[in-house]
Amino acid sequence: MKRLRRGARKRLLRWTRPARSLRKEEYGRLVDYHMHTRLCGHAVGEPEDYVRRAIALGLAEIGFSDHMPLLRERDERLTMAPEDLPVYVGMVRDLQTSVDEIVVRLGIEMDYIPGQMEEIWNAASDYEFDYVLGSVHYIDDWGFSDSRYVASYEGKDPDSFYRRYFEIFREAAERGGFDAMAHPDLIKKHGVAPGLRLSDLYESAAEALASADVAVEVNTSGLRKPAVDIYPSLPFLAACAERGVAVTLGSDAHSPGQVGMDFDLALRLLRRAGVGEIATFEARRRKMRSI
Ligand SMILES: [Zn+2]
Ligand SMILES: [Zn+2]
Repeated sequence: MKRLRRGARKRLLRWTRPARSLRKEEYGRLVDYHMHTRLCGHAVGEPEDYVRRAIALGLAEIGFSDHMPLLRERDERLTMAPEDLPVYVGMVRDLQTSVDEIVVRLGIEMDYIPGQMEEIWNAASDYEFDYVLGSVHYIDDWGFSDSRYVASYEGKDPDSFYRRYFEIFREAAERGGFDAMAHPDLIKKHGVAPGLRLSDLYESAAEALASADVAVEVNTSGLRKPAVDIYPSLPFLAACAERGVAVTLGSDAHSPGQVGMDFDLALRLLRRAGVGEIATFEARRRKMRSI
């Protein structure tokens, strides 16, 4: 895994912090639309604590988007169980009525699993989500993003799994029915770099998002992973911005302290890519707000 460390260090340099923290009025133009709850089994803290942190930062709006239960696989460290979905929705609904200092949205992060989408949407159909984030955490049956199984990268060819990842990503954007695609280049998470030209993959992914009118998420959690980079990388985001793809923003917080994390760097990335507004969602209708 020499490659991993070298790539990560290079990216870390790119993000060298002077990283001033944002002022309250800057947070006041931003949203955090990607936050988890303890129900998924790998996040900690009470939902109230996430909300309190967001209020302290001054964020305009937040949304919970816990992992939708996997229907054909039970793993209590990965997603909530199907019977917990109403519990999750109830938890967020309670916050919506008890908190008036900040707008709280109900979202869900849904895996794109070819061949199962009808079943998955069906399981979600009882709930009125404000937005649904689409995610690709699997390449065929390989859970490539699961940090418990990094050893599964051994012997795999980065060029071919990058190509396959982006193929599934494009399909998810075009056919998944999602409002936004989360962490769009998650395939870089563990810092394994391919030799192929990434710009071709970025451009065709951006095309797919634009033609399906699906938003793309800027997600700061990659900075906390071996990739040491925001998802998506600057050229990928720029390719999206050029094609008019709407952008949303999230920290992928798995603990209250991660709410709004590294949004100073996210804002810098957005500005460099020429993005002047971000998408918010209510009852699955998109509204843009200027940043
Ligand atoms: Zn998670
Ligand atoms: Zn995810």
